[in-house]
Formats: sequence, C-alpha cells, structure tokens
Amino acid sequence: MIAQNTPLACLEGIGARFLVHLKRLGIETVKDLVFHFPVRYEDFTQIYPISDLEPGQQATIQGEIEEIDVRRSWRRGVVIVEATVTDETGRIRIVWFNQPYIKNTLRPGRRANFSGKVSLSDGELYLSHPTYELVGAHETRHTARLVPIYPETHGLTSKGIRYLVQPILKNIVSVDDYLPKTILDEHHLPNINEALRAIHFPDTIDAALQAKARFSFEDLFLLQLSNLRQKMALAKERAPQIKTDIGHLKQVLSELPFPLTLSQKRSLWEIIKDLERREPMNRLLQGDVGSGKTAVAALAAALAAIRGAQTAFMAPTEVLARQHFATLKKLFGPVKAMNQPIVALMTASEARVLYADDLEASMKKEELKKKIASGEIQIVVGTHALIAGKVRAKTAAAKPLAFKNLGLVIVDEQHRFGVEQRAALTARAKSARGLLPHFLSMSATPIPRTLMLTVFGDLDISIITELPAGRKNIETRVVPPEERAGAYALIRNEVLKGRQVFVVCPRIERPDLLNTKNAYLEKLKIDTKSVIEEYEKLSTKIFPDLRVAMLHGQMPASAKGRSSSGGKNGASSGKATKESVMKDFEDGKTDILVSTSVIEVGVDVPNASVMMIEGSERFGLAQLYQFRGRVGRGEYQSYCLLTTESKTKNANERLKAIVEAKNGFELAERDLKLRGPGEFLGDKQTGLPDYAMRGLQDLELVRATRAAAVAVLGRDADLAHSPALKAKLAEFRKTIHLE
Ligand code: ADP
Ligand code: MG
Repeated sequence: MIAQNTPLACLEGIGARFLVHLKRLGIETVKDLVFHFPVRYEDFTQIYPISDLEPGQQATIQGEIEEIDVRRSWRRGVVIVEATVTDETGRIRIVWFNQPYIKNTLRPGRRANFSGKVSLSDGELYLSHPTYELVGAHETRHTARLVPIYPETHGLTSKGIRYLVQPILKNIVSVDDYLPKTILDEHHLPNINEALRAIHFPDTIDAALQAKARFSFEDLFLLQLSNLRQKMALAKERAPQIKTDIGHLKQVLSELPFPLTLSQKRSLWEIIKDLERREPMNRLLQGDVGSGKTAVAALAAALAAIRGAQTAFMAPTEVLARQHFATLKKLFGPVKAMNQPIVALMTASEARVLYADDLEASMKKEELKKKIASGEIQIVVGTHALIAGKVRAKTAAAKPLAFKNLGLVIVDEQHRFGVEQRAALTARAKSARGLLPHFLSMSATPIPRTLMLTVFGDLDISIITELPAGRKNIETRVVPPEERAGAYALIRNEVLKGRQVFVVCPRIERPDLLNTKNAYLEKLKIDTKSVIEEYEKLSTKIFPDLRVAMLHGQMPASAKGRSSSGGKNGASSGKATKESVMKDFEDGKTDILVSTSVIEVGVDVPNASVMMIEGSERFGLAQLYQFRGRVGRGEYQSYCLLTTESKTKNANERLKAIVEAKNGFELAERDLKLRGPGEFLGDKQTGLPDYAMRGLQDLELVRATRAAAVAVLGRDADLAHSPALKAKLAEFRKTIHLE
C-alpha cells in the first residue's frame, strides 16, 4: 500500500524526466498527484460495434488487430502507422501519425480498445489517431470509460498522468476524512477516499459530479473556516476603547457644512460603536464614489483625536492623499464644537501640517516624523507606502511610521489590509500596552454577496446606499467609432456651457510584460505614450481652441518652487507637475484633462460633467464604474462616454452591463458572472483552488459552507477535536494569499 506522503521519486517505474515535469507542476508526492484533478472527462463509456460507427462520432471500439504496418508518407518526414481491426460486426482501418512504436504494442492477434474520432475518406470510415489500450491485464484507463483529461502542460500528457494515477489510486492507503461525518451526511457528499477515486476515474458522470461537489464544498468550507478563525483571533486582541459623548457628537454634526445622509449617519454610528469596544474594529465602509465615505471616516478620526488616539489615514496615491487632506480641511474648518485636530499630510514629495484656523505649515519630513512619534500630530494623511511601509523593510525610511498612540487606521481603496502589515505598524507604535489599532477600510467597489460571505467574511461591513442630495443621475452611453463625432460635439457643447471634461486613455495590456522585471515601469511608459498621442490629437486637431492638459504617471509629483501651468503651453515645457496640472483643472483653468488610468483620477471637481473613457473595453467593470463616479459630483447633468473599437460580444456585454446597472451591487454581480471572482481579488494570484474560484459564483454553496463552518467552530473553536481538519486547514492557508 502507498501512503499519501510518499515522494513520487520513491515509487518504481517513474522516469526521471517525468519527475521533473511533475515537479514543475508542484507535484512531488503521491498526495500532490492525487489532488491534481482533471478538468473534464471524455465519455468513452460505451463500446460500439464497428458496424454502428458513424462519421464525426467520438467512440470506443474493441477488436482484434488483423494487420499493422508502418510506412513513410510521400510527404516529407511523416510516418504513418496503419492497422486493420475487426470485431464481430465488421472491420475498420485505423491511422496514426509519427508513432512507429505503436507497432510494438499492437501486434496482430491482440485485442485492444480504441477511442477516438470516426472519420470518412473516399466513402470509407476509419479511426483517426485514436487512444488505444490492450484489453486484459488491467482495468482500462484511457478507453472504454469516462477518461479524465488533465490540464495540458509541456511534457506531461493526460495519458501520462492517467498512467501514473490509476495504479496509485488502487493501492493508496485510505485516510481519515478531514471533513466531519455530519457534514458529509447532511450534504450527501462522498468521503475523501471515494471522492479521490471518483474524481479521476468515475464510473458514471454522476459519480464524477458528486466528487466535484465534495471538493468544491471542501474548498469553500476551508476558506470559510480560515476567515472565521481569523476573525476570532482578531477578537482576542485588545484595542484602545475610544468613547464618544453623544451630546458632543450631536453638536459636531449640527455644525458640519452639510447634513449627513441617512446611511452616512448609520455607518458613522456603527463605527463609533466599534471604537468603544475592546476588540479591534475590522470594518469595510463601502459606497459609491462621492457618497461621502471620506467624510464619515474623517469624523471618526476627529472623534478619536478628541480622546487622544492618533489616526493613520492612508490613500493609494499622492493625488488622493492630497485630496483627502483637502476634504478634512474643508470638513473640520467650520466645526467649532470640535477642537480642531492637528492634521498632517505626508507624501513622498511633501510634509505639511494643518493647525487650527487654516494655519498651515510645510516642514521637513524628519521633523514631522518626530511630531507623529511624540503624539503631537493627531491625524496623518499619506500614501500606504509611506505610512505602513514594508513589512520586512531594510532601511528605517521604508519602515512603518512610528506613532505614540495609534488608535485608528483608515485605508482608502483597498479592501483589506495585510495582517502582517497591521502588525508591523502596530509593533512600531506599541505603546507598551500591546494594543492593536482599530481598522477601517473604504472602497467604492461593490462586492458581490458571495464574496462578502467568503473572501471578505472576516470583515464587518457598513454600506452607504445613497448619494448626497441634489446629485444627478449620470447619463452613460456606449460610443462606437461611427458616433465619435457626436461625442466630441457633446464635449464641445459642455465646455461652452462652462463645464469641464475628463478623457481617460486606455490601459494597454501587454501580456509579454507580465514576466519582465520592471513590468510596471514598462507599462507606465506605454500607457504614457497613449496619453501623449491622445493629448496631441485633441489639442491640435479636435479642440485646438480649447484648453487641453494632460496628466500621466511619469510626470513629477510636484515642483519645489513655483510650477508652471499644466495647460496647453505648459505641458510640453516639461515643467508641469501632477500637482500643478490638477490644481489648474480644479481652478477651472483647463477645459479638458487627458489622463492615464495608472493615475487614479482622484479628483473632486464638481464642475466636471463629462467622463470620456477611450478603449473602455480594456478596463474592468469596477474600474469603469470608478471613473464614472468622477463626474456627477455637482449640480450639473453629467455624461459618461464609453468609446469602444471592439466588436466582440463579451466586451460589448460588459459595457452594456455598466450602462444598465442600477447600482454598484447589481454591477458587481454581473461582473462576477462575466469575469469571475479574479477581478475582485486583485491582480495577484490568490492561490485559491479552481473549485473554490468557481464555487465563489454559487451563492447557495457559499451559504451552506458558511453555515457548516460556523457550526463546526461553535462546537470546537480551536478544532482541538478535529486534528485532521486542523492540519488540512493549516495546509490550505499556506496556499492562499488574499491580501
Ligand atoms: P467618497 O469618499 O465616498 O468618494 P467624499 O467623502 O469624498 O466621498 O465626498 C464627496 C464630496 O461630497 C466631498 O466634496 C464631500 O465634502 C461631499 N459630501 C460628503 N457628504 C456629503 C453630504 N452628506 N452632503 C453633501 N455633500 C457631501
Ligand atoms: Mg473617495
């Protein structure tokens, strides 16, 4: 008998070359191999009498080899093996190419199965290049059954894998099932030993489906367990209790420059309640772009500051960090009831502090760091990179910022924050009390329910469902090439009315860049080129009379001294900076801003009324949705123009989805259907098994696995009584990375 942990190298009869190929697939042990699942099956179950064959059919026949010959074709280099096979009902010709060795196995007089395609030539049927297998010695594995087809890889055919797996499965030691028996029974799932056999060599399609169902269940169940346990572990940590006085809160709200929407109030309340607890908050604040998430988060930060807790407020880009800083300024300014918190902005290019009453000062970064460490600065706004640093940073500068009393971490546009990153940030801030900060992430990307209940299952969620009053619906149109002139006319018309326009240029996908070392930089260059070209076209040919500017990732963030205008004349002078271009646009000095997608167009310009997205089929739905949210922020009717050159059905269906979606959640569900969960889980490989990825589209399965995981942990939180499951879970966790 063979144990699962046996290295394949210890088994007899596996060639060294084979082992190398298997290793490339990550297959080194018996266990790895039996968990390498087929992607589909060929149905060669039925053995056909030769006389019943029909052209075009995939079929298995069984018969005796009458003759077999090898000959060289008149075509250069092609070797043809030709055999005649008979059964009780007739005779058929079989042809193989370039496999002369077949002759050594299929000797005249032997019986064999042949599975393959029935073809017709000159009115005569023949089998073309079938899989074959001698009848007798062992159970069939390539023919006359459901035949597993594995993911194709160089040097390792499905046939090769079948050849290996079948004898192993026959002799493998049965293992205890790590899934609890109660769960298997309740959901009518086969046990692991049965399922492993059936997934490779099912007797019936039904058996294959049941085995698949078990492994889908298993993967999602493990994912659920993993997230729930993470949530439980976090709940054991301690965070500073930040209490809010309700009377004071009411006063603050009444002095805000605008009334909060109902769901902003509800979200803020949920956050306040969390902050009062001793367990660290781990909450996601979700809401469309412009729905007022930043305002809610800023209020939470101000309330924390009143209680002496510091807040780290992180944005993915400098532009966004600067915008948040501005939002905080605008929000805190008029509120007298709140001792204005001392807010600092810290990006790669600048360090600035906002004291009370619009008193603002630039300072050296080192000095600011000291003030943060001493606790003088209460809220720090900056980029992820600067505040959280790198987990295993070598230099001091790349390490997380040191805080005196970090109580709240806010992360914008990132669904989750690494556990490790959080630990590193906290470790540096550790006020010797071993407290973890509360954690709030914000995202405009709506998450489909299935993902909310799985991958994001460890987060609590607050949702802002409405936009502040007075916002107009954004008219969204798909613009095919023949309607481009009309789109430009609309843009011109809006500019004449005094509005402003964004043009986002396509993200250029170059798969060959994926593996190069500086793929990001390479891509930046290509994307930049597309912006420059578009800028040239718009500023010289289409709108020579309007003020056009461009913004791309290779421009410097900001200049030391006075920066020149990013406008038509300034941009080409090479002096324009991201900051100057943005500022000019915000101040209404430019009409049309042409920009890359690499830069988050993280601007809040209520006067902008048109968002034109070039090559829109190249963006994900979620991203398109984000772009669209950049307009319609003021009182004006706004437009989103999705230009496309693509005629493919899928691309156009996706664009149609964004046009038709009533809200972000509907869009998210469609996106999940069209593109699968990968889109939501980021660019990185998640390490999630295929079955889990597909399971993420199945709400019923998601619910069932969650209920099962909750039940199991309810009985046995540490899995102390289920050592096999605990071990399996540890193994599973090593393979996934969802942060
Ligand atoms: P988000 O972070 O969700 O994109 P913000 O908080 O940045 O949204 O808000 C977008 C704009 O709307 C900002 O200018 C903000 O000051 C404003 N705003 C936020 N909440 C309200 C509200 N309840 N009423 C009116 N304006 C609001
Ligand atoms: Mg925002």
